[in-house]
Amino acid sequence: MKRIENLNLENKKVIIRVDFNVPLDDNLNIIDDNRIKESLKTIKYCLDKNCKIILLSHLGKVKCEDDKKTKSLKPVAKRLSELLKKDILFIPEVKGELVNKAISNIKNKDIILLENTRFLDLEGNLESGCDDNLSKYFASLGDVFINDAFGMIHRSHASNVGISKYIKESCLGFLVLKELDYLLPIIKKPNHPFVVILGGAKVSDKIGIIKNLITKADYLLIGGAMSYTFLKAKGIEVGKSLVEDDFIDFAKEMLKKTNKIILPIDHACVKEKDSLDFYIKDTMEKDDIGLDIGPKTIELFKSYINKSKTIFWNGPMGYYEKETFQKGTKEICSIISKTDSISIVGGGDSAAAVINMGYRDKFSHVSTGGGASLELLEGKSLPGINI
Ligand code: AMP
Repeated sequence: MKRIENLNLENKKVIIRVDFNVPLDDNLNIIDDNRIKESLKTIKYCLDKNCKIILLSHLGKVKCEDDKKTKSLKPVAKRLSELLKKDILFIPEVKGELVNKAISNIKNKDIILLENTRFLDLEGNLESGCDDNLSKYFASLGDVFINDAFGMIHRSHASNVGISKYIKESCLGFLVLKELDYLLPIIKKPNHPFVVILGGAKVSDKIGIIKNLITKADYLLIGGAMSYTFLKAKGIEVGKSLVEDDFIDFAKEMLKKTNKIILPIDHACVKEKDSLDFYIKDTMEKDDIGLDIGPKTIELFKSYINKSKTIFWNGPMGYYEKETFQKGTKEICSIISKTDSISIVGGGDSAAAVINMGYRDKFSHVSTGGGASLELLEGKSLPGINI
């Protein structure tokens, strides 16, 4: 794993794999430009070194021709140009004559952004399948490869892992290094008390992280629909709330193994999932659906958060898409923001909550990669790091 500062980049033609996988609305406006902003440090560093810069990224999944209309990186080129106050040459293809011509004319400090690398998935899964010929082609475009796409670091694709096999020199960019600087100490040597807060719907997605962090954390606070699988495992009535029955045995095993798991003690409930008419209950009945943690749970979780030295949080505390059920997530966000702990938010919904509420600067680190940070904390080795 080479670091960007350790390579001589002066005047080189650098290919930077960035993560510009940003959410777009129906009019193709960027809803959240955090990932673009986080990539600026590496791009500016390369500009200072007089590099010729070629940017590669994916955006969403590309499954059919129609997806090309909504998954173009063109809006990203515009936003990047505004942020850098500099022209960006956007090439509306990933490989071919336009790319070759642009690259043969590239000058020092020019920035070229190629179209969504996953457009080539329509030609036989070339990008996501880490096709050898495509990897060689990407490698032929420059002298040095910089992997700065943390959101993709757990995947082996042509534009991140494939390219690094065929280019002379590769390294990790500042965004990835910052992510590792915050996330690796959590699994190696966290400051105690270390509190992990998990939410969201699926226990099944978080088995690895629960198993690994339960051995390192002092407390595991579980909210969101995930908590109902654990409550049911304890024999507590959860009504018609979302439960993963196939994972009740796993939840039982974890609860038997440790008393570090802290579960909700009250709930914001409704009778119908689409109803906004909620009531707070300590004990659910058969026809209740829990959609958020209640005020007593918020206080309970607060008591653990306030005595922590390290916090890792991933997943919303409730049915976050409906504003009425954002209260638990927002309160947890606000409580963490007032602590002096090292506070890290894994990507996804919880990172979006932190940013939307204006708390980004109050957290030590807001990760740009939800899946990637979870896999790292599961203890898995990530293919994009070992380039
Ligand atoms: P995940 O992908 O597992 O992180 O789950 C995120 C999803 O969990 C979001 O769409 C939330 O709306 C959903 N979620 C969290 N808590 C609840 C709940 N109590 N009932 C239904 N959905 C929930």
